[in-house]
Amino acid sequence: MTQTASTCCYCGVGCGVLIASDGTRITGVQGDPAHPANYGRLCTKGMTLPATAASLTNRALYPEMRLTRDSTRQRVDWDSALDTVAARFADIIRRHGPDAVAFYVSGQLLTEDYYLFNLLAKGLIGTNNIDTNSRLCMSSAVTAYKMAFGADGPPTCYEDLELADCVLFAGSNMAYAHPVLFRRLEAAKATRPATRWIVIDPRRTDTAAMADLHLQIQPGTDVALFNGMLHHLIWEGLVDSDYLAAHTEGFAELKKLVRDYTPKMAAELCGIAEADLITAAEWFGRSPASLSLYCMGLNQSAHGTDKNLALINLHLATGQVGKPGAGPFSLTGQPNAMGGREVGGMATMLAAHRDISNDQHRAEVAAHWGVPAERLSPRPGLPAVAMFDALREGKIKAIWIACTNPAHSMPDLGPVREALQHAEFVVLQEAYTNTDTAAFADVLLPAASWGEKNGTVTNSERRISRVRAAIAAPGEARPDWWIAAEAGRRMEALLHPEQPSLFGFDDAARIFDAHSQLTVGRDLDIGGIDYALLERNGPQQWPLPAGMQVGLARRYVDGMFATINGRARLHVTPYKPVAEPTNARYPFHLLTGRLRDQWHGMSRSGRVPQLFAHTPEPGITMHPTDAERRGLRAGELMRVSSKRGGLVLPLAISDSVPSGSVFAAMHWNGQFLNSGGINEASLGKVDGKSFQPELKHAAVRVERA
Ligand code: SF4
Repeated sequence: MTQTASTCCYCGVGCGVLIASDGTRITGVQGDPAHPANYGRLCTKGMTLPATAASLTNRALYPEMRLTRDSTRQRVDWDSALDTVAARFADIIRRHGPDAVAFYVSGQLLTEDYYLFNLLAKGLIGTNNIDTNSRLCMSSAVTAYKMAFGADGPPTCYEDLELADCVLFAGSNMAYAHPVLFRRLEAAKATRPATRWIVIDPRRTDTAAMADLHLQIQPGTDVALFNGMLHHLIWEGLVDSDYLAAHTEGFAELKKLVRDYTPKMAAELCGIAEADLITAAEWFGRSPASLSLYCMGLNQSAHGTDKNLALINLHLATGQVGKPGAGPFSLTGQPNAMGGREVGGMATMLAAHRDISNDQHRAEVAAHWGVPAERLSPRPGLPAVAMFDALREGKIKAIWIACTNPAHSMPDLGPVREALQHAEFVVLQEAYTNTDTAAFADVLLPAASWGEKNGTVTNSERRISRVRAAIAAPGEARPDWWIAAEAGRRMEALLHPEQPSLFGFDDAARIFDAHSQLTVGRDLDIGGIDYALLERNGPQQWPLPAGMQVGLARRYVDGMFATINGRARLHVTPYKPVAEPTNARYPFHLLTGRLRDQWHGMSRSGRVPQLFAHTPEPGITMHPTDAERRGLRAGELMRVSSKRGGLVLPLAISDSVPSGSVFAAMHWNGQFLNSGGINEASLGKVDGKSFQPELKHAAVRVERA
């Protein structure tokens, strides 16, 4: 029996795990007591990881290919599959240009995988059409950090959970979505019961049920709330004028805006008591250390960037940044959403927090990769929603999807399916064969999964952890980076035979070295990290430049920000309502979210029977008053419809949702339903700055099916 230290593959907490294996099978898992994210704790999903690895049912084991759309895919060898992918992509690029192809990748990929996909798209092909499902998850947080602080990434660390005097949860059911961190918070509150918890959420979630103050706001009114809180802080003299003068700019304009957001006016907009808004502002402003924890409730909105900025305004105005227990702390959903941002694996950014539109930045990346500077396109690529629109319209001809299931997770699924149906060529790189997207794939490339591959991930507190293989991948499945490299070698032979190969990597460690060198001199400099250091000293936070032995726990402690003049920027954030208001035909606010024991599209967690014990079946949850008014009973089948589409779900009745709203979990999909899930009804309207869609809210009607 051997034991392998690795990282859980589910959420952005990034818990360390010790995998027990007998050489061919994973036989057990336990929390790694030495890992600083979890100190040995695991949640139910982490504890049941061995069960997800045990079954080969629906695992992608061999490359598959079909020659025509109306035929079924047949097993082929790797050379045939990779030669075909390279030839079809090269042919489309020659005929239509580099922007006629696209890559849609995933926050589940390891940093090394991400690095090679980015190199393939931007360095070899010369397109920025590479985006990721992190666009659906974190892009509003990324954009707001850049606009306020000058660089992406949270200024905080997990230790702050134990040091905060006031914890403000905004749009985060942390008890379900980041359970191990929530346990840390619970333990901290048990030790220091005077710590105040404020939860902002339209639903009475398990997190809200434990709060000292639950602000059950109307959906989408977060900005009004934050502006109202800031109004109170300003006019009660609770802002830190010295901090504002020394380290920020933009306060005077913001003060003019929030003058109108009296607590009374803001509370009315939010549908809460004025006294509760004032209490929240008082607790936030008077506590020695105030920490905000936020997630999809802020990000997945057509105004997600403003929601983030309005919350950051509160921190800057009170000097609650860069000190122990304080700061805005976005919790990443996926295990490596952060690593993807570091390598620039998005359509709107370059590697190591560089900008696509910056000539110098493109030249630096091109020089590092050894390609002509003009190869790197100055045009931003298409972010997720626009990418699938372009595919449907025929502007993008071929798409390579890696480790994600857009036919379930994208908003407004009808047009997404249409896009995949009309594409000339769809490549799917996946560990599973039964996802909603698999039906559209012309080529299926079988990918190794958790416990079967090597690399790194970065968790929510900027900590880079090793992911290690405990057993060999089944069948002919291969690591994601290997697949990208093999296809890349073939594609460069067709597109740029004159250049030395960009893909001469024979293991994940060398890819990590290439990535870390590209960060040198940047705000996220990890020139001091390599696999040997991670082996010796364990997981490390960035930045960690060469010469340092440990990374920086907190950023901006000296009040110097990553902007050109070193000052943080407060932004004017007027309140805007939800993108799709309710009306007489669609009278309910549809709210979406996660369950405690399931993960995304359930391709992994859905393989474990005990993970269904908490919530055995899908449903649409309605307040008892709304159900009674309509004469509805729990268990009846209901059709939930928006202007775009709908699905049938059994009714659940609970006062955890407010009257006028209904709730559905995001997880259930074509594996379990005769539809793609709740995103049949959701809205594809995106935030104009971050391009993140409003997955959290849509107007729907609910009728007996
Ligand atoms: Fe895995 Fe997240 Fe649970 Fe930790 S909290 S065990 S990373 S799912």
